[in-house]
Amino acid sequence: MKFRNFKMVDYVVYGRGSFDQLDEILAPHRKEGQPMVFLVDHFFEGKPLVARIPLRGNDKVIFADVTYEPKTTQVDKLAQSLKDEFGQVSGVIGIGGGSTMDLAKAVSLMMTNPGSSADYQGWDLVKLPGVYKAGIPTLSGTGAEVSRTTVLTGPTRKLGMNSDFTPFDQIVLDPELTTNAPANQRFYTGMDCYIHCIESLQGTYLNEFSKSYGEKALELCQYIFLEKDTWDEECDDKLMMASYAGGMSIAYSQVGVAHAVSYGLSYLLGTKHGVGNCIVMNHLEEYYPQGVAEFKRMVEKGGFDIPQGITKGLTDEQFDKMIDVSLGMKPLWENALGKDWEQIMTREKLRALYEKL
Ligand code: NAD
Ligand code: ZN
Repeated sequence: MKFRNFKMVDYVVYGRGSFDQLDEILAPHRKEGQPMVFLVDHFFEGKPLVARIPLRGNDKVIFADVTYEPKTTQVDKLAQSLKDEFGQVSGVIGIGGGSTMDLAKAVSLMMTNPGSSADYQGWDLVKLPGVYKAGIPTLSGTGAEVSRTTVLTGPTRKLGMNSDFTPFDQIVLDPELTTNAPANQRFYTGMDCYIHCIESLQGTYLNEFSKSYGEKALELCQYIFLEKDTWDEECDDKLMMASYAGGMSIAYSQVGVAHAVSYGLSYLLGTKHGVGNCIVMNHLEEYYPQGVAEFKRMVEKGGFDIPQGITKGLTDEQFDKMIDVSLGMKPLWENALGKDWEQIMTREKLRALYEKL
């Protein structure tokens, strides 16, 4: 038995208003003539948060268009434009949801690693540390702030750059930044965290390390989405910690069926991660009976809509593409169904599941 020896985020600051410590945090990482690059979710363009970014010297703010989830081409373009303009940068700071944080991680890595980010989609293919990188979530749930991956859609697959060089050097967890998120977005991303917990806690990779974090995150989600009647500061504070703990839980385990199936939707139809997971989770009674029942209560309590019928009218070829992408996520299936998962999740069975969505 070989135990995973995983790399974690180096520094973590948590608290309302902790964003204002950013200048002090970044100071020791600044290099002569090389800017800090702030990749900021385009939602914040023209918003007061931008004025609080501690710009110095030739620092640059780039608004990240996250209408679509990050692509390898977008990462390569961003990294190339920074190399053309500055040669090298002191660091990349991602301020936004999971998409912006993933973009920041990937751009940091591509400032030093040769070739295209598509070359590194997979496990442990990244060879060199990137430039300094920090993540500042403005939505809670994905766990991208703590994970060792950055999920990218590439020419042939949707897969992360999973490596020990991928985690952030620093994260700033300031729940105040999530205050203005629209309720449905907050719910979909929050459910990403809930689903991480269910998949981790029901998975075959589970150990006490994962379980301790997963149970805590689950308890926080249950409190926020079932016990609370109105959304308030406490919900933002708690959901940010749930996201962190949920992410820590999967550091030592894996996600499962909802994610594996949702990746196929996202690859073919561009369905976004949070809502895609919800669409799939809605039909997974067979795999996660209790979790799905509870999920449905959360959806009902919040009065949210989970889209239905999104695979209607797709061709055989399109179903096959989704099935290929999904079955390619081997560790997820193995975690969910065990070593014999290939006997359990046949192409026919998966097709039937996709047809239900
Ligand atoms: P997101 O980053 O895609 O953002 C969703 C929407 O919310 C965007 O329109 C964005 O502009 C907006 N937004 C963000 N913050 C806001 C705020 N405070 N107020 C108002 N609007 C705001 O959403 P997400 O669910 O956080 O992230 C999903 C992405 O994360 C996917 O690309 C997925 O692949 C990735 N992901 C990564 C990991 C990982 O471990 N690296 C894990 C799970 C998901
Ligand atoms: Zn997820």
